Amino acid sequence: MRGADREAALVALLDSVTVVANTTEGLESAARAMMSAVCELTGWPLSHLCVPDGSGGGFVSSGVWVGAEEEFPVLREVTSRARFRPGVGIVGRVAVTGEPVWSLDVTRDPLFVRAQEGFDLGVGAAFAFPVMVAGKVAAVLEFFSHEVTPPDAPLMRVMANLGHQLGRVVERQQAQRAMEAGRRRLEQMIETSVEAFVAMDASGRIAGWNAAAERMFRLSREQALGRPLADTIVPPRHRAAHRQGLDRFLFTGEPKVLNQRFEITAWRSDGSEFPIELAIWPVQDDGEWVFNAFLHDITDRRNAEEALRVAYEREQSTVARLQELDQAKNDFIDTVSHELRTPLTTIVGYLEVLTSGDAGPLPAHQDRMLRTMTRNTMRLQDLVEDLLTISSVGGSRPVMSPIRVPARDLVDRAVQAIAEIAQTRGHTVHVHVDTDVGSVNVDVGHIVRALRALLSNAIKFSEPHTPVTVRASVTGGVISIIVTDVGIGITAEELPRIFDRFYRTRMAADRAVQGAGLGLSIAKSIVEAHGGTLTATSTLGQGSAFTITLPAEAAGG
Ligand code: ADP
Repeated sequence: MRGADREAALVALLDSVTVVANTTEGLESAARAMMSAVCELTGWPLSHLCVPDGSGGGFVSSGVWVGAEEEFPVLREVTSRARFRPGVGIVGRVAVTGEPVWSLDVTRDPLFVRAQEGFDLGVGAAFAFPVMVAGKVAAVLEFFSHEVTPPDAPLMRVMANLGHQLGRVVERQQAQRAMEAGRRRLEQMIETSVEAFVAMDASGRIAGWNAAAERMFRLSREQALGRPLADTIVPPRHRAAHRQGLDRFLFTGEPKVLNQRFEITAWRSDGSEFPIELAIWPVQDDGEWVFNAFLHDITDRRNAEEALRVAYEREQSTVARLQELDQAKNDFIDTVSHELRTPLTTIVGYLEVLTSGDAGPLPAHQDRMLRTMTRNTMRLQDLVEDLLTISSVGGSRPVMSPIRVPARDLVDRAVQAIAEIAQTRGHTVHVHVDTDVGSVNVDVGHIVRALRALLSNAIKFSEPHTPVTVRASVTGGVISIIVTDVGIGITAEELPRIFDRFYRTRMAADRAVQGAGLGLSIAKSIVEAHGGTLTATSTLGQGSAFTITLPAEAAGG
C-alpha cells in the first residue's frame, strides 16, 4: 500500500472505530470489531485481548482472539496459561507504561517472555497497545504477524488513539451499569416504601404503582397500570378538575399543585373515600412528562384530630359548667352569710348587754350559760366571716383594698385578736420583729385575718401553757412572718393537704379540736392574692411552723 493510501486508510479506520465505539455496548464486542478492522487493514493475521486478572496489576488472556487463530495454536496455548505481571512481557509493559509497544522479532526480544520458553510460536513481529479508562490501563490489545516487521510509527499512533476510543466504550458501560444499579435501587426503595407510590403519564394513565398502593386502593399492579388515573383513585366529583389541572400544566408548564404537600380525598372503586396527604413531583422522561406521587393515608390522623377537637370542646363546656356552679355556690354562700350576719350581730349585742351586768346581776348559773352562748355565737360569727371571705377571695376577682402599713402593725393586730384565748389557755405569745422590716402595701383586714388563723391554730393544736412565737424578718425584698408552735404537729402524708378546703388532720378530728377546715385555705388565698406564699413545715409531736412571705412592695390585687 502506498504511503498516502495507507494514511487515508488509517484515518478511515479511526473513523469507523470511533463509530463502533459510540454505538457498541460492551468492551468485548467493540474490541472484536476493532481487532478485525485493524487485522484487515494491516494484513496482520491475529489479534488478542488481554484483561486484568482481577488481583492487583496483572493481566491474563480474555480468551478473545480475532483472525487466523488456527495458524497460531502454540501461541494460543502458551498465552492461555500466561499471567503477565506488571512490567513483564509486552502486555505487562503496556500495562505499566500505558504506551504502545512494538516487538519487531519476538524470538530475539527478551521482553517477549512467551518466546523464551523454547516453543516455536510461529510469530515474527508483535505489537500491543492499551485501552485507557479514566487514565488507567483497562485492557491490552495484541497483534501478531508471521513475519519480522519493523515498527510502524503512524500505525502505532492510530492504535494508541483507538485504545482511547475503546476506553470510552468501557467508561460508558461503567456509567450505564452505575445508572442501572441506581435505578434498580430506586425502584426497590419505591416498591418497598410504606408510602403508596403512584405515577401518571402525560396522557393521564397510571405508569407506576407500588405494593403500598396495591394495599391502599385494593388494586393489583397489573390491574392498575395503564388505567386512567382519574377514574381509578380520584373521587368522581373531582375528576374534571383533575383533568383540567393536568391539561393546564401540560399547556403552560406551570405547576399549581406540584412539588408541595397537600391534603386531598382519595377514592376506591368500591366508592369508599379517605383523606390522604400527597406530594407530586413531575419529571421529564424522554421528553414526556411523568408525574410521581407519594400518598399517605391520614385517616387516623384526621380521626385523632377530630377526637381531640371533640374532647377539647367537651372539656371547655365542662369547665364553663363548673365555673357556673362555682359561681352559683359562691353566690349562695354570700347570700346566706350576709343573711346570718345581721341577726348574729344583734344576738351578740344583746348577749353583751346581758353579760355586762348593765341589765342587773344574774344568778351564777345563768351567767355561765350566757357566757357559753356568747362564745358559741362568736364562733358562729367567725364561721360566717370565713365563708364571706371564701366567696370574696376564692372568687375570680378578690376584692382588695391595699394600704401601706408597717408589717409590725399587722403582727400586733393579729396577736391582739387572739390575746384573750391565748391568755385563757395560758400560752405566751413571743413576738420578734426585726428592726429593718418596713411597711407593706396590703389589705390590712385580710392579712390580719390570715395571721390570726395561723396564731389560733398554733394555740388550738398545742398543749396549754406552751409558747407560741411570731417572727418577722426581711431578706432580698421579701418579708417573712413565721408562726411557730411546739404542739401536736402534722404527719408528712397529711401536710400537703392541710391547705385544702375543709381538710382536717386525723389528729384534729380525734381530739375534737374545734374548726371547720377553712382557716388555712382562706389564709393561703389571701396571701397569694397579695403575690405572696404560705407554706408549712411540721414534725409530728414536736410542733409546726407556718411561713407567710410577702413582697416588701406588695400591692394587693
Ligand atoms: P381548722 O383549724 O378550722 O380545722 P385550718 O384550715 O385552719 O382549719 O387547718 C386545717 C387543719 O390543719 C387543721 O384541722 C389541723 O388538722 C391542721 N393544722 C393547722 N394548723 C396546725 C398546727 N399549728 N398544728 C397542727 N395541725 C394544724
